Amino acid sequence: MAVFKLDNVEDLYEIGSVLGSGHFGQVCEVRERATGVLWAGKFLKLKKSAGSRLGLERKNVEKEVEVLQGLQHQNIMALKDVFESRAEVVLIVELIKGGELFDFIAEKENLTETEAIEFMKQILKGVSYMHQKNVAHFDLKPENIMLSDKHAPNPDIKIIDFGMAYRFIQGEEYKSSGGTPQYIAPEIINYEPLGTAADMCLSGLSPFQGETDEETLRNIVAMKYEFEPHHFSQTSNMAKDFIQKLLVKDQSERMTAEECLIHPWIKPLNRTQIAKRNRSSINMKNFKKFNARRKWKMSFNMVSACNRFSRLQLLCKARGPEQQELRDCESDQEDTSTKPASLLRRRLSSSS
Ligand code: ATP
Repeated sequence: MAVFKLDNVEDLYEIGSVLGSGHFGQVCEVRERATGVLWAGKFLKLKKSAGSRLGLERKNVEKEVEVLQGLQHQNIMALKDVFESRAEVVLIVELIKGGELFDFIAEKENLTETEAIEFMKQILKGVSYMHQKNVAHFDLKPENIMLSDKHAPNPDIKIIDFGMAYRFIQGEEYKSSGGTPQYIAPEIINYEPLGTAADMCLSGLSPFQGETDEETLRNIVAMKYEFEPHHFSQTSNMAKDFIQKLLVKDQSERMTAEECLIHPWIKPLNRTQIAKRNRSSINMKNFKKFNARRKWKMSFNMVSACNRFSRLQLLCKARGPEQQELRDCESDQEDTSTKPASLLRRRLSSSS
């Protein structure tokens, strides 16, 4: 069992404002008392008892820490330190100040494919690096692609949230059913053995988006998507070819991150290809609409989970203090109730 530092994190770091929150805790800005340097602290709540459904099992936190300890790359959030107490583990990580890449792009009036490719290249470099280290992220999506500093002339991409990541062990089979419906690969939905290819079958626009999560998942399994002229009229054929080579059902036929980096859309072979790329642009009106809808969906899920949680708390108060454990369990259940059943076992159902 990995041993984390037992010091009280607050003796060494001053805890600042909340930067974001996830299923199992909050991320806050922290200042190292000895140096004054700013970091981010990811506070992860641990399960109180084996039967409790609230919080993370320690072994899952260990997995996230081990994965991060093995990754040092400019485009991947760096881990500095890990502390633990009885109730939580605190990851001290690189502070990423620039917010989500998609929010940064959505503020722009226009974006050429060439500019988009510069970001894509950085994402691919980070992904290719982790895949070379036999690590798959398993939760690559717009929310987990951040920018180091959005005011810098060429901001660095930072991939965050390795809570679902896994380092493959040679000769061992790994299956998992966790993920976010719009961005999940078909082999995850089908609960098949997984490889790093599962990180590659995604698109920011989620061409598989259905009316419901179930429909979205069905579209992915059937690989049912189309380049609607309304969304893709300004997109170059090279970009479409790139996307098509990623949205492939057979894992072994899908482009790897390494192959993506040498696809002519990312690395043009001649001047004509460069010129074509420069003439094509991202449809910003559609992008802004997509991003607003994505944000709305995220906050809707959060608000409805909170509402149900509050209702449950009232119910539990009425039942008395002995229901505390039940409250913990049910609140955790609430958190997942907006997702389809096959995806509820996030971080809990992985098997090797
Ligand atoms: P989830 O439940 O989605 O898996 P999580 O509990 O694993 O989330 P993260 O996704 O790692 O938590 O972080 C939650 C949010 O905190 C992020 O969406 C982001 O807004 C913010 N955040 C995470 N890491 C950092 C960082 N290093 N610097 C700044 N903000 C961060």
